[in-house]
Order: sequence, then C-alpha cells, then structure tokens
Amino acid sequence: MTDPELCFLESDNYPYRAIVPPIVQSSLFTWDDLEQFLKRGELEGWDYTRVGNPTIDVAERIIAQAEGAEKCMLFASGMAAVSAAVLACVKSGDHVVAVETCYGPTREFLTDYLSRFGVTVEFVSGEYPEKFRKPAKLYYLESPSSIFFNLQDIQQVAAVAKETGALVVIDNSWATPLYQNPISMGVDLVIHSTSKYLGGHSDIMGGAVAGRRELMEKVGVERRTLGGCADPFAAYLLIRGLRTLPVRMARHQETGLALASALAERPYVDAVNHPGLESHPQFELGKRQMRGYSGLFSFWLKPASRESVVRAINSLRRFRIGPSWGGPESLVVAFPEEQPPHRWVVRLSVGLEPASALLDDLDAAFDGFGA
Ligand SMILES: *Cc1c(COP(=O)(O)O)cnc(C)c1O
Repeated sequence: MTDPELCFLESDNYPYRAIVPPIVQSSLFTWDDLEQFLKRGELEGWDYTRVGNPTIDVAERIIAQAEGAEKCMLFASGMAAVSAAVLACVKSGDHVVAVETCYGPTREFLTDYLSRFGVTVEFVSGEYPEKFRKPAKLYYLESPSSIFFNLQDIQQVAAVAKETGALVVIDNSWATPLYQNPISMGVDLVIHSTSKYLGGHSDIMGGAVAGRRELMEKVGVERRTLGGCADPFAAYLLIRGLRTLPVRMARHQETGLALASALAERPYVDAVNHPGLESHPQFELGKRQMRGYSGLFSFWLKPASRESVVRAINSLRRFRIGPSWGGPESLVVAFPEEQPPHRWVVRLSVGLEPASALLDDLDAAFDGFGA
C-alpha cells in the first residue's frame, strides 16, 4: 500500500456514521437466543473480548493490510506477541536457530523459558544466511536488531528455510510495516511491539503478530489459552497512532539520518550504527530490503571515563533518559562495553523535535570528549 492510505483505512463504515471507530469497551457480547449461544463457535459475531472485539479487529485489519498478511492478532505487549508467535511454531524436542543480536527479553524467553519445555535454541550471527542452515523448526530474526542495528538478509534466510523446512519468524518493530514487509520476502510470521512506533505516543503497551490464516489459527490458540489479549482502549489508541504513522515515520527518518550523519563527523564519536549511513557494512542490503529507516540508532563514544559519560548524559536537556522508543519525545540510554577499552555505546530514540535542537544538545553535552 502507499503511505497515505494507512491514514484513511476503514474510515467510512462505523456506527453512528462516526469517522473514528468507537471504543467497544465491553468484555462480552450477548446472543439473541440460547440456540445461537450453543452454536456460537460456527457463527459470525463477537462473543468474548479475549477472543475478539470490534475495536481490536479494526487495528488488526489495518496492520494485516499494511504487512500484506492474511491475518493479524493484537496482544497485550510485544513480549506477549513474541512468546505466542514462537509457541505457535514449536513443541517439545524442537530446535530454534535465532539471531544472536535479538531483543534481550526475547533471548531470555528463547533460552531460560523454552528450555523448561524441552525446546533447544542456538544463536547465530545474522550476517551470514548460511549460518541458519541447521535442522530446526524455527528461524527467529530481528532486522535491524536492537542496540547495534545489524541486518539479516531476510530473503536469503527464508530461502534456506524453504530447503530445511523451518518456519521463519521476524521481529519487524524497528522498520514498521511502512518500511519493511517481511511476508513478501518469504517470512511466515511478523511480530511488532506496538508499544513503539505503531502506537507512537509512549502511552500504550501492545504487540501484534501477522501471517497466513492457517498459522495464525495456532497463534490464536496461544492467545486464547495464555490470555495475553489486547485491551479495546489500547487498540483504540493504536488505531489513532497508525493513522499518523506515515507522517511520523517520515519525520523520524529525516531527523535520524540528519543526526546520524552529523554525529559520524563529530570528534567525540568513534562510530555510528545506523543502517542508512553508507558507512554501515550492510547499507546495500538495507536499501534492498527496506524502503526507509526509523529514528532509533546508536553510536560509540571515543573512550571516556564512566564519570564523564554519566555527567554528559545527565546534562542532556532534549533527550530524556529512559527505555523503549518510538514516541514523540527523544530518549537516550548508554551502556559500557564489557571488553577493554570499555567504550560506551549511546542509543538514541530520535523524537519529533527539530533536528538542530537535538544536535546542539548532544554537542553541548559531549563538548571536549575525544579531544
Ligand atoms: C520493546 C521490544 C519488544 C517487546 O515489546 P513490549 O511491548 O515492550 O513487550 C520486542 N522487540 C523489540 C525489538 C523491542 O524493542
């Protein structure tokens, strides 16, 4: 779909001729008679919000269409979506091959949690599609991946999976459906943390899984039995966020690229991790499989003491210190490298503020670093 279409999807058929879908904040739906109730499994219509709800359905249809998927299901959080997607694919005795740079809590789920049920996992470097060629039930991708923004060649990994019979699941939260559509590249299930760009206002927790109908039915079993369903109000806020996704992402992209290329020239910066910079080792791959870039990236500081880094980060005025990303306000976190020389990586979630103000803020904070 073209970008602006996302803003107008589904806007003309709501009750009361409302232009915005109503929040159907109801846990259950009633039936006309007992015969209907007894046959409700075969009938159209809503029954119980853990299984389906009109407001949740609207958001699901928008995301399914944006991803080119037959079906989408919303969840209470990104992690509820990650765990349901993975559990829908594996059973005891199965093996999972995952990209080593995946989101921390996902990694914890794949190792500590799945091992309790006899599912084994191994982590591979995402740069080489052939590293995924193992007898496994599932290949788990996240491209670009958290913190360092490395990519996997989605089409190539999906081609390997076709030969080995593995399913491919990808976390697409960074690029959003606007800038990357993994299903068209052969992926089976796409996951989003809607708490990030899709919600876009730092005010909801949510997740989504999208894919073909038959596999989504298994995802639906996980949602129904583990119970990690979305809430209608969160779905309403998600719909509201989706309507401005194209304009917000264009701005995040523009500001992110402006900051990343300026930072690459700054004396206090050792290297910038942004897949949209030509200096990124996977720049060409990124251009092939993505249509754009979001506003989350990181950079390495020149070696500096912990005290000076803490002081600099604390002095930032435009960037607030906090986890997560994807909202209108810019955020920063920083971590030291474990190995000497203990460089610090600084991760920025670039918000919707003017790029010049954000750059001035960083320049003032890191003034004198790397001198
Ligand atoms: C935040 C995040 C998640 C988890 O989403 P929650 O909504 O916080 O549960 C999953 N994957 C990535 C890449 C994330 O950044």
